[in-house]
Amino acid sequence: MRSYKIALIKGDGIGPEIIEEAVKVLDAVSFSEGFELKYEEYLLGGAAIDATGDPAPKETLEGVKKADAVLFGAIGGEKWDSLPRQKRPETGLLKLRKELQVFANLRPVTVYDELVNASTLKPSVIEGVDLMVVRELIGGIYFGEPRGNDGQKAFNTMVYTKSEVIRIAKVAFEIAMKRNKRVCSVDKANVLDVSQLWRDTVEEVAKEYPEVMLSHMYVDNAAMQLIRDPKQFDVILTGNIFGDILSDEASMLSGSIGLLPSASIGEKYGLYEPIHGSAPDIAGQGISNPIAAIASAAMMLRFALNEEGAAQRIERAIKQVLHEGYRTQDLSAYDAKEICSTSEIGSIIANYASK
Ligand code: NAD
Repeated sequence: MRSYKIALIKGDGIGPEIIEEAVKVLDAVSFSEGFELKYEEYLLGGAAIDATGDPAPKETLEGVKKADAVLFGAIGGEKWDSLPRQKRPETGLLKLRKELQVFANLRPVTVYDELVNASTLKPSVIEGVDLMVVRELIGGIYFGEPRGNDGQKAFNTMVYTKSEVIRIAKVAFEIAMKRNKRVCSVDKANVLDVSQLWRDTVEEVAKEYPEVMLSHMYVDNAAMQLIRDPKQFDVILTGNIFGDILSDEASMLSGSIGLLPSASIGEKYGLYEPIHGSAPDIAGQGISNPIAAIASAAMMLRFALNEEGAAQRIERAIKQVLHEGYRTQDLSAYDAKEICSTSEIGSIIANYASK
């Protein structure tokens, strides 16, 4: 029997409750498709600080490398916000991404037909939206040195090397080849030197993909165009900070941040996580939407384990559940037939995915 090792990092806030549902669904599809998943749990973020004093313990950074893939919930919360930056939960996540060298963050944005009324935008604008944000994840201003804050002056450094841009651009073009063969590279080349290097390098990489149509857009315009006419985009290629902001903006096309999954991949490792945070405002109430985590598990099956059949089972089950009107609280206002708890909707998805 095919057998895979999955490292689970539940994290903080709603992290544990959404990962529990993702595991429920994974167990259902692995049974149906005839493979086995073995889980090992690791600590990161606030939970790790409480247990060890370190947001990214060595045991986690080393241990997850032995797994075939890492499934991650979310980290962070007010309890740890007053700690110095190096000791904060978010630093733990940045360290994990860097350690695994997962440089490409893939964030698909799909608008489910059943939820066209859930977006704050008009149905005619968002119906049929299907785009992919490819965000560089371990470079740029979030990692650039030097950085500092002496209380009077603070600074960060936005830096990209040519080789970093080449490898992320290649990922975007490869994905575009399997989609609608259009890449829009987003930068701020009118102001930033680092963006000019980005743009020139993307142009060079594009020559290897003559079938793909490349366009460039400044990030401020892209933020506007995503709301004005999101259907114009197929693959959006961008750097770390711009991708962070644009993909949260794009999440609202789908109606709830609780729907959107992501895959972070590198040459060797893969980290699969919802795009949302630990949502401390709703943690522990059983009302969080686990679909982003469950859809991240589907991406893990596809990209890390090559279990396409199981991935499709999950994606079909999510669509069916939404089609039949099952909704968590965040989507309760939109054609809901039944409002479900986190655990109820997870069980219904698991049930449909196993059939
Ligand atoms: P957030 O994404 O946690 O929450 C934003 C809003 O969306 C909240 O109102 C929340 O209730 C809602 N929401 C998020 N996920 C939801 C879900 N699955 N179902 C229903 N509603 C959902 O962002 P935030 O409030 O800015 O940050 C909270 C904490 O999470 C902070 O400590 C932040 O640093 C951390 N954070 C972690 C990650 C990560 O782990 N990848 C990402 C972003 C923020």
